[in-house]
Amino acid sequence: TRSEGFTYTSTRSRVVFGVDASRERLAAEVDALGGQRVLVVAGAAEMPLARELAEPFADRVVGWFDDVRQHVPVECAEAARALARDTSADLLLSVGGGSTTGTAKAVALTDRLPVLAVPTTYAGSEMTNVWGLTEGARKTTGVDDVVAPRTVVYDPALTVGLPPGLSAASGLNAMAHCVEALWAPGANPVTTLLAVEAVAGLTRGLPGVLADGEDLTARSDVLYGAWLAGTAFATAGSGLHHKTCHVLGGAFALPHAEMHAVVLPHVLAFQTPALHPATVDRLSRALQGPGAERPAELLADLDDALGIPAGLRDVGLREEDLPEAATLVADVVADGAIPNPRPISRADVDALVRAAWAGRPRR
Ligand code: NAD
Repeated sequence: TRSEGFTYTSTRSRVVFGVDASRERLAAEVDALGGQRVLVVAGAAEMPLARELAEPFADRVVGWFDDVRQHVPVECAEAARALARDTSADLLLSVGGGSTTGTAKAVALTDRLPVLAVPTTYAGSEMTNVWGLTEGARKTTGVDDVVAPRTVVYDPALTVGLPPGLSAASGLNAMAHCVEALWAPGANPVTTLLAVEAVAGLTRGLPGVLADGEDLTARSDVLYGAWLAGTAFATAGSGLHHKTCHVLGGAFALPHAEMHAVVLPHVLAFQTPALHPATVDRLSRALQGPGAERPAELLADLDDALGIPAGLRDVGLREEDLPEAATLVADVVADGAIPNPRPISRADVDALVRAAWAGRPRR
């Protein structure tokens, strides 16, 4: 709460947001960052789009890097770094989802080049100073301000091609960022403000995006929500929800997006009694409820509307795995293992994991 005092560090990135912003304003943003030798980073599927966007400053593009893979294998990072050095690049332009942004960040980390990011999903990586690399099966992450993109151009028009399944998965990933930001260790009144506004944008936009992927109003609402969600999460950090999903995903190879979507309403139901009543009220309204209602059920309704499986039982977790699942989660989150507004006991974890396995939290 405000009376307890807080610390707020804002991200230093510049954001340009708007339909067609990538076509109309990207060249000016390259100029503003002093980009004379631009290395374009985009996955093979997004490279045609990246080439089109770079057309107005094609004479300043010194290289194209398209070996983008999930979780940024070190070999890919090394190849991108070598290209940046060979071409004496002075600016990295990334066009794509979180994997692409992550590849540009890996180059920024070692070579200290500024990143101009043009996101095409709702992952939110472009708003954080977190980098990630994988070597074999091991993923390493770290925090360094040098990887945070200096400028981000958000263009809802670039997301119209994101298919319904990916749109829902990515949008609900953003939802997890903003809901978690309400209680994560770095939460403060400003991140709460951002988080509630993000929830509102995602809730307003996602059903429309699934009904008509070319609805630019809905696409704009979701991308706006994803931006604010990423911003709130970048400051608030990860808490009960992400730690729980990290453990479950790692131990039982559950599908990432569905698992997050299924677990989130249950974590929210657990946390709600410890949230400030005014926050609960605003959150319920953001989820299009009448306010002062239990927000977890409203979030579960949204999952229903988006066709998300009901419980972890529907995405591959077996009932006989529940004791082990609860033990693994409890080791990481229970009995004071993480700072949390509501104390979490082993019994709480058992109940949470079983409820998420069985189906939605219900009124
Ligand atoms: P992604 O970047 O792997 O992209 C998923 C798929 O979507 C790809 O096949 C891509 O070609 C396709 N795609 C992207 N944009 C599209 C568009 N507009 N139309 C059609 N297809 C499109 O997935 P993601 O969900 O964007 O990002 C996930 C990755 O980002 C994970 O590795 C995650 O760890 C990372 N991430 C990092 C942070 C951070 O702070 N460092 C934050 C969030 C996510």
